[in-house]
Amino acid sequence: MSSGQRIRLEAYARLGRGKKHAKWQPVSLCIYKNYPRVKVYDERCDGCGDCVEVCPEKILHIEDGKVRVEDVEECSLCSDCVKACRKEPKAIEVSWDKNSFILTLESTGVLDPKRIFLEAINIFNKKAESFIRCLEEIEEPGENG
Ligand code: SF4
Ligand code: SF4
Repeated sequence: MSSGQRIRLEAYARLGRGKKHAKWQPVSLCIYKNYPRVKVYDERCDGCGDCVEVCPEKILHIEDGKVRVEDVEECSLCSDCVKACRKEPKAIEVSWDKNSFILTLESTGVLDPKRIFLEAINIFNKKAESFIRCLEEIEEPGENG
């Protein structure tokens, strides 16, 4: 631009949802998993360390000749530790809590992750309320004649 020239900019902000177009999507990643449970049966475990070797997340270690879990939330539920254990019955078991979840949400930067989550819950609640209203409006069989 030359000296003295100016730019006139007119900009419009349009609100929308990622459901309609990806340009409104505030997250780059959103995944969840059930809360892992890793149980070690001390009476069966001989501390051989085979499960420790194969764990891809490196969350198992040997302490006083027994396996201990360091950070169970990092468990990927792969069950490699169970497959590696040669004891029968197995000295280690992996399962998950079907009522607890670990949600991972990565923002694109447009909104704070906490705000994104709370907005999503608000939208979900409104949809649930609308659904309940629709159900209530359905006439029971036999009503009005
Ligand atoms: S299930 Fe996989 S990630 Fe979890 S403790 Fe066992 S080997 Fe490690
Ligand atoms: S592989 Fe089995 S016996 Fe060996 S340390 Fe792990 S749980 Fe214990």
